[in-house]
Amino acid sequence: MIFGTQFTNELNRITLNFPDKREKEYRDYYFIRSFKTTRVAYLILAILYAFFGYLDSIVAKEYFQLFITIRIIVVLVLLSVFAYSYSGKFKDYWQTLIFISYFFAAGGIIVMLVVMPNVVIYSSGLILVFLAGSVLVKLRFFASSVASSIVILIYILVAVIWEIDVTIIVSNSFFFIGANLIGMFAAYRTEIFNRQNFNLYQQIAKKNVEIEEANKNLEEKVEERTKLLNFRNKELKAEVKHRAIVEKELIAAKEKAEESDKLKSAFLANMSHEIRTPMNGILGFANLLREAENEEELDEFIDTIINSGEHLLNLINDIIDLSKIEAGILKIEKTKFELNRLTKEVFDMFSVESNVVNKHLEFSFRNGLADEESLVYTDRMRLKQIMINLVNNACKYTDQGSIEFYYEIKDDSLVFVVKDTGIGISEEAQKYIFDRFMQASIGRTSGRESTGLGLAITKTYLNLMGGNISVKSKLNKGSEFSFMLPGVKINSEVLAND
Ligand code: ADP
Repeated sequence: MIFGTQFTNELNRITLNFPDKREKEYRDYYFIRSFKTTRVAYLILAILYAFFGYLDSIVAKEYFQLFITIRIIVVLVLLSVFAYSYSGKFKDYWQTLIFISYFFAAGGIIVMLVVMPNVVIYSSGLILVFLAGSVLVKLRFFASSVASSIVILIYILVAVIWEIDVTIIVSNSFFFIGANLIGMFAAYRTEIFNRQNFNLYQQIAKKNVEIEEANKNLEEKVEERTKLLNFRNKELKAEVKHRAIVEKELIAAKEKAEESDKLKSAFLANMSHEIRTPMNGILGFANLLREAENEEELDEFIDTIINSGEHLLNLINDIIDLSKIEAGILKIEKTKFELNRLTKEVFDMFSVESNVVNKHLEFSFRNGLADEESLVYTDRMRLKQIMINLVNNACKYTDQGSIEFYYEIKDDSLVFVVKDTGIGISEEAQKYIFDRFMQASIGRTSGRESTGLGLAITKTYLNLMGGNISVKSKLNKGSEFSFMLPGVKINSEVLAND
């Protein structure tokens, strides 16, 4: 910001004008700040000018007529300017009008002063005009200085022409110049002060604009940052959510792994026990062979050894199957064969099975197709194993009553059902019987050779072949296992083509 001399240096030394477009702006500003004062000043001056006519009536009786006429003219001029100050155009002409009216007022007094040179009140009157010009009516410094100087010159000129006493002219001029200098100085200071004010005001306004602009930029930046932060926040929230899900999944996976580990350990313990039982049977009865007292006892021992051996073999087969499944190397090998022949094999196998024979179970089966139509295409060995597992369970877990199995063909799918009137399965146990290593968790079925592997293997085979298995059962009433294998039926056209 420019203060003091630095600022003053910027202005024209004589006119006090700004060197640039600020001059126009300053004049507008000066008008806005001054025109009301000027208007009031005109009113006051018109009244004063008129009232001084009273003095004329005392000191200048012989010229009263002339003086009053002058005063009326001047007052009319002053009032006209006053009235015009209400017009919208006043702004364009106000300084010129003040300048002109200044000459009217001063001119009037000069006439009176020349006519009545010895009367002090008129020289004082002229001094009042000077002061009014420079202080009251807001004539700018330069204009008021020029005007008052011209007025003094006019006075001197007129006084000389009128042959007024030189001493009076000189002494009056001294006073006038003195008063004029004081007025000029006041006007000069006031105008510099005004211009300085204006300059400050302008710079503040400029700074305000800059601040507003900066504020706006700041607001925009804040808004931008807020948006960015919100976006990041959303991303973080999503990340946190994602991590929570991953964490949950990891915990679940860990729990599953731990559970699976526990089950495997339990399964191993179980299996060791299961293997030891038939092994003990084999070794025990093998030792007893030497001590057999008769042929009958020998046969009995041999039967027990064979049974235990078969059981052990089944168990080992199951374990091998299961490890193949676990390792993912189990292969399905499809062939064409007659389904009725397979069901017959299964039936024949179990009709002489010890459970069926010893417990006098009613054992029957039904085929869904005629022999010649029963050609199917699937993995025969696995299918047989599945059927054997289910029928074997039925035999194992049925103490009295009947066992029957049958199949139907529905839309090329094979539906196989095994029904028994055995011990049944509780609803709770039904949830687990198809799971691997679950034997440990559902408790052992007392008195029956049990590994808990058969159904798990069965289900895995069926799933591998695209089928599924389900059970309906009631405790002490019996069970019904049924499985479905899709797309196994070969229709007669295919047969014909083959
Ligand atoms: P295992 O028979 O060697 O125990 P499975 O996987 O074949 O193993 O059967 C799992 C369990 O399901 C059996 O231990 C038994 O409790 C039950 N279960 C299976 N079939 C039958 C059935 N027909 N009647 C009653 N319970 C059965």
